[in-house]
Amino acid sequence: MTKRYELSELIRNDNFIDGQWVAAAKGNRFDVTNPATGEVIAQVADSDAADAHAATDAAARAFPTWRDTLPKDRAAVLHRWHALIVENADGLGRLISLEQGKPFSEGRGEVMYGASYVAWFADEATRIYGDIIPQQQRGKRMSAVKEPVGVVAAITPWNFPLAMIARKIAPALAAGCTVVGKPAEDTPLTAFALVMLAHEAGVPAGVLNLISASRENAVPAVADWLADSRVRKITFTGSTRVGKYLARESAGTLKKLSLELGGNAPFIVFDDADLDAAVTGLLAAKFRNGGQTCVSPNRVYVQSGVYERFADMLATRVAALKVAPATDPAAQIGPMINAPAIDKIARHVDDAASRGARVLTGGKRLPELGPNYYAPTVLADATPEMQLSCDETFGPIVPLFHFDDEAEAILAANDTLSGLASYFYSQDMRRIDRVTRQLEAGIVGINEGALASEAAPFGGVKESGYGREGSKYGLDDYLSIKYLCQGGLE
Ligand code: NAD
Repeated sequence: MTKRYELSELIRNDNFIDGQWVAAAKGNRFDVTNPATGEVIAQVADSDAADAHAATDAAARAFPTWRDTLPKDRAAVLHRWHALIVENADGLGRLISLEQGKPFSEGRGEVMYGASYVAWFADEATRIYGDIIPQQQRGKRMSAVKEPVGVVAAITPWNFPLAMIARKIAPALAAGCTVVGKPAEDTPLTAFALVMLAHEAGVPAGVLNLISASRENAVPAVADWLADSRVRKITFTGSTRVGKYLARESAGTLKKLSLELGGNAPFIVFDDADLDAAVTGLLAAKFRNGGQTCVSPNRVYVQSGVYERFADMLATRVAALKVAPATDPAAQIGPMINAPAIDKIARHVDDAASRGARVLTGGKRLPELGPNYYAPTVLADATPEMQLSCDETFGPIVPLFHFDDEAEAILAANDTLSGLASYFYSQDMRRIDRVTRQLEAGIVGINEGALASEAAPFGGVKESGYGREGSKYGLDDYLSIKYLCQGGLE
């Protein structure tokens, strides 16, 4: 039987190191607040390098035993963890809403999404095959086997407090690695709840360790992992700026890296698109988590023949979206995560308006709801000079750009250093083939706005990073290949 916890029982405020809940070595704490109200939810451990080091000590000690645990036994632990997450989906969903702000239906959806990676990698744990290499010389046998890389450091952002860390921990544990983790300072509580359930599922002491830190202390804590040669891999989801810093700083110990970084996704609507489907797809892709997702369309290119019609249809649907606190069952968009986030959104909209964009709907803060709310917005006549065309807005803003022909759309879509998601709508099969080949992105949505799946490889190209999460490819990031050559067999 799996146990269902009350929300209050899921809230932990200490680090989890070597199977124990422990305060930060210096005893410091920082506030985690509800973005809807600014109220303090909990005061969690403010860890620094000493705590990061203690977590690595535990993970390094636990590694040989976990590596040698039979894959089917690792899989069984992960399946138990999956069952516990699903059993506690309501409580975890409420916790996500509380610290991150997304509506409860989305929070619960995130729990099930994150859980799907745990189930997927539980199964994958038993399918880590190597190769027998066809014989090249008499008396010699050659083969390749896959082994866990060792201790993995996982660092995650605030926008999906459960899914982002679950899809790192699950493949790492499945592969036989041990983990030290640090969730974002805005949303550490969900990650701690997840770790609590992992412990209950039977993940042994030291195999999974998690510390929280304020933004200030995260720097020395992570720097300790960067410099420690026992940490063999860093898996990071977050901004491109921090991703580049980690790549530079981990060079000293040549760690394996997976970087899931920022996006600036184009969404192209061709004249021959099914416009109803395109509007529905855009709403699904754009407004999940209020636009605070790395695959959120940031630039929408609409062909001239359908521009005004599409803009009207979209503005009508966007104006009807319900903005409300996560606790309102009708909420479709909640508060943004914090003050800097909402300031950036307002800056982008003001800049666009000052350069000639037309506000079709929205375009303002909603102070009557709270300090972090922004109205879902559609801007027509967007141009490449506007800040929002080259910088991820991370909010509920849809800028509509004009284009005349296919070549112009491709050029504009690829005119970015990012390359995570891209989307386009067309009913012409030959165009679908041409555009799919030319888009520079790790992910392409073709007449589809909802792309995420545990069975699919998620990741980017260009400055959106490298490595893939999910799918049969997702384990490779946590494995290294060992070549075996046995002689003397004549
Ligand atoms: P961020 O890079 O500011 O922070 C991410 C994590 O890194 C946090 O845990 C933070 O504490 C830590 N961090 C920040 N500075 C650090 C430093 N100097 N040293 C060590 N650790 C440090 O990103 P964010 O604002 O939390 O998240 C939003 C970004 O994440 C967006 O750019 C978004 O596109 C990206 N993102 C990408 C994906 C993806 O899969 N590609 C998914 C979600 C979010």
